[in-house]
Order: sequence, then structure tokens, then C-alpha cells
Amino acid sequence: MVVDTGGQVTRFKPGDRVLVPASAGCTLCRSCAAGFTARCERAKSSTELCYGVSPQLPGSQAQALAVPYADVNLVHLPEGISDEAAVVLTDNAPTAWYGCRRARIQPGETVLVIGLGPVGLMAAQSALRDGRRAGAGTDLVAERCAFAATLGVEPVEGEDARTAVRDIDRRTRAGRRGGGRGLGRHHRSRPQGRPAGRPGQRHRGQPQQGVPIHMGLAQVKELEFAIGLCSIHYELPP
Ligand SMILES: [Zn+2]
Repeated sequence: MVVDTGGQVTRFKPGDRVLVPASAGCTLCRSCAAGFTARCERAKSSTELCYGVSPQLPGSQAQALAVPYADVNLVHLPEGISDEAAVVLTDNAPTAWYGCRRARIQPGETVLVIGLGPVGLMAAQSALRDGRRAGAGTDLVAERCAFAATLGVEPVEGEDARTAVRDIDRRTRAGRRGGGRGLGRHHRSRPQGRPAGRPGQRHRGQPQQGVPIHMGLAQVKELEFAIGLCSIHYELPP
């Protein structure tokens, strides 16, 4: 709920019910004008304008917060959307949708989601929309896999994510040999090319750590790899 507004805010007034997207752009540069606030050209770093990550925008768990460039960095919230739904629309749900959109999932393709936390579960739900056939998911926490199964996501067992990827790849190959449709080439997973390190070496990197990718194998396997910061405004429905 808007409590007060600055002198230059024209689209909102106190009492308006609003959503605060996690990414906040300057609203003036070309990227922001196109809706890609996470790529704001005036930001000094990729995380400068993201709530909870930027020192300039402390986490938005407080009772109140100031929203810069509010005319664009706020979104009017329709009455039909509950507070609970609005909370996940600020970040998690658009991020999950963004991941699936970047993966360019086609009807009939199988999607493997690694990690079935809130964003992973919503990614699986996004992947299953519009008649898409099957979603598979894996997580080290058994309870998460069990809950995902209630949403129609096939749990993939494995001692770790890499084992799970190999398992679904093996089953998919078997499906293709049997005339079935296998794992699509656009799947949101860790690239399967053999790492450049010694055989058997495991790479469980955080995003900011380097992950070796064998470019030759990536080429012959036609691997596609997408990563990014979600511009929440861009992913929200108009
Ligand atoms: Zn900008």
C-alpha cells in the first residue's frame, strides 16, 4: 500500500495497492524503456538496482521502503490478486517464468528442473502450461520432490543433480529409440558437456564461480545455455 509519494510521482497516490518488483531500473535509459530494468545502463553493477542484493536498495522485508522512480518501478495491483499471490509476483514467479521463456520450451518437450525450492516449483508449473507434456524435477530434499509430485512433476531420484541429469538423459535416449519423444534440446539444466577438468571431477559451482564447459562437445551436442537476471517488469502480464 502506498503511504506517501514524492513530488514527481504522478501515477500513484497514497492508498493505492501496489506491487514492488525486485528489480528497479532508472526508467530513463534505453534498457529500462524497453522493460529490461535488470539491465539498466545507469547502474554501476548488475545488482545495484535489485532489492535484497544491492547496498543501495536494502532488502524489502521491512515494514516500509522507499521506491526510486516510483512511476515506473511500481505496478498497480488488481483487486483480484491476493496479497499472498502478489508476494511471489514480485520476484519468484516472474523469475521462474523467465527461466522457462529463455529455455524456449516447445509443446511435447520434457523439461528437467534442478532444485525444487519455490522458484524451481514455479518453473516446473510454468513449464507444464499450455499442454506441455511432462516436467521432471530433482532436489536433494525428499520432501520437496514429494510435494512437486503432487503438482504433476515427475521426481527424478539421484544422489546429486548430476546423477539425476544422467538418469533422465539415459531414459530419454531409451524413449527415442522406442519411437517416443525424448528430452528436448531446450532444457533448463546444467550443460552436459564433459568438464575440462580431470575425468570424474565434480563441479558444483555457485553462479559467480567459473564452470568449465567443453566447447567442442557443446558444439557437436548443440547445447544451448542461457543465464540472466530477470527484469520483473518485463515478465509481468501487461
Ligand atoms: Zn535504466
